[in-house]
Amino acid sequence: MSDALAVDPRAVFAAGRLIALPTETVYGLAAPIDRPDLVARIFELKGRPASNPLIVHVGSIEQARSCVSQWPELAQRLAERFWPGPLTLVLPKAAHISDAITAGQPTVALRMPDHPLALAILNASPAPLVAPSANLFTRLSPTRAEDVRAVFEPADVEVVDGGPCRVGIESTILGLDIDTRTLRWLRPGQISQSDITAELPPGWKLKVISERSKEAIDVTPGRMQEHYRPAKPLTVVISERSAETVFSDVGAGWRLVSLPQEASAAARRLYRALREADQDHVARLGLCLPPCCLDQPPWEGVVNRLRKAASQWHDERALGPYRA
Ligand code: AMP
Ligand code: MG
Repeated sequence: MSDALAVDPRAVFAAGRLIALPTETVYGLAAPIDRPDLVARIFELKGRPASNPLIVHVGSIEQARSCVSQWPELAQRLAERFWPGPLTLVLPKAAHISDAITAGQPTVALRMPDHPLALAILNASPAPLVAPSANLFTRLSPTRAEDVRAVFEPADVEVVDGGPCRVGIESTILGLDIDTRTLRWLRPGQISQSDITAELPPGWKLKVISERSKEAIDVTPGRMQEHYRPAKPLTVVISERSAETVFSDVGAGWRLVSLPQEASAAARRLYRALREADQDHVARLGLCLPPCCLDQPPWEGVVNRLRKAASQWHDERALGPYRA
């Protein structure tokens, strides 16, 4: 067990509890892959549908290889380049990875998180850990230990405090289709399409699957349209104008959310800003985004999360000035 680690993962799991672990993306709710009872408990506590597969977190490339039936050269290359880090690879699963983890799919999603405490917990654990975000299904993901404590009981979950998450949004997910040498772009995150394209060897292609296509829903059942949502309805307006101008005629019940202008700072701040604005006495939330964010690679992840978080999306370039 690492000196930095105040908990003994084996003891926590043996007592039938889960661990909320800090990662660089968001906090995860973790259980060993070989404990079906605890894996089931994750779905139960989160209210997550069984059709939404879990990401397996590993402490080494060797551990990742033990979870798959094929590990192509490109997986090795991407893992060496981006792990530990916010990239998840989807590959054909090994026989011992349960259907509960993969939602019945023949593939498994794998990632090595870049946080010293997450790696210490993985190294002290009996097996790789499934660790979806430590939030209720469809709600905002937690980026601080207190966000997790606000939702789950200590009797159920041991929360390890690793400070605020450095990246702040969930990992980029890539599916490796070995037969067709196709990389499927399944979820944007801090690592952008251009980061991945730069690593593609000859013969492989990157295929971006539209969020709304049938293929997206079949291949990645967890990609729901409504996700990462605050409790109050959020209106996102794409505008060259300032947020104060755009939302000048809204009523007193509105709360405006502002994000830093730089993409990685905006990602780091995103869930916390939405959470802070999402208070009881507030009726609606408003957020304004300049159009340039929509086609800049570093903004892909933030724009994707905002599209799902928003109950109303108004692009002034197509629809004219926003009126509340
Ligand atoms: P979360 O852990 O909440 O970030 O969600 C994990 C997401 O990973 C799921 O919602 C899916 O989008 C994706 N995922 C996990 N396993 C697979 C898989 N075998 N194939 C495709 N996507 C997966
Ligand atoms: Mg999640």
